[in-house]
Amino acid sequence: MTHAPRCIKPFGPAAARRPAIQFDGHGEPLNSFFHLCCAKCGGDSLIVKGFQCFYEQDGERHDYFADPISLVCASCGWSNSAFDRKTDGYDAEACDWFGEARDGTLRNFLCSCGSGGGLSQIVARFEYPGDLFEMDIVIDKSHGAENLFSWFTLVGTCNKCRNLVQIFEYECA
Ligand SMILES: [Zn+2]
Ligand SMILES: [Zn+2]
Repeated sequence: MTHAPRCIKPFGPAAARRPAIQFDGHGEPLNSFFHLCCAKCGGDSLIVKGFQCFYEQDGERHDYFADPISLVCASCGWSNSAFDRKTDGYDAEACDWFGEARDGTLRNFLCSCGSGGGLSQIVARFEYPGDLFEMDIVIDKSHGAENLFSWFTLVGTCNKCRNLVQIFEYECA
C-alpha cells in the first residue's frame, strides 16, 4: 500500500521502514508504515495527546490511553488529529460502526519512563484485510483501499529515554 490513509495526510506522511518492534494484529501480510512530521515546520518531535480512560473488572480499575489521538509539534505548536475510531479505519469507513463511546480526560501520552515530553520518529502502521482487493467497495472504487485498514498502531522513540515504544493501537475491523 503506497497511498497514505486520509487520517494521517496532514502530517506529510513519508513511507517508512517497519520499526523494530512487535506489532499485534490479525496476522495479515499487507501492512504499511508512514513517518509523521509537523506540516508547518517539518519538526519530527511530536507530543501525543489522547484520552485517559478506564474500565472496572472484578473491582479492579484498569487504565488505558484511548483515541481520538492528536499530535502537537514540540517546536511550533501546530497540531492535528491523527486517529479517531469514529471516522478512521475499516469499521468506520465501510460499516459506519465505531465501537463503544469512550469518556475520558485529555492528557499527554506518558512513556513507561514517566515522560510526557513527546516522541520522535513517530511511525503510523496500518494492517489491511487479506481480501482487500477482492472487496466490492474497492473494486467499484466507492472507497479508497488505503482507508480500509483493519488495525492501526502508532509507535515512536521517546525523547527522554530514547526507547522505541508503542503509543497506541486500535483494532478497526
Ligand atoms: Zn512544527
Ligand atoms: Zn521514555
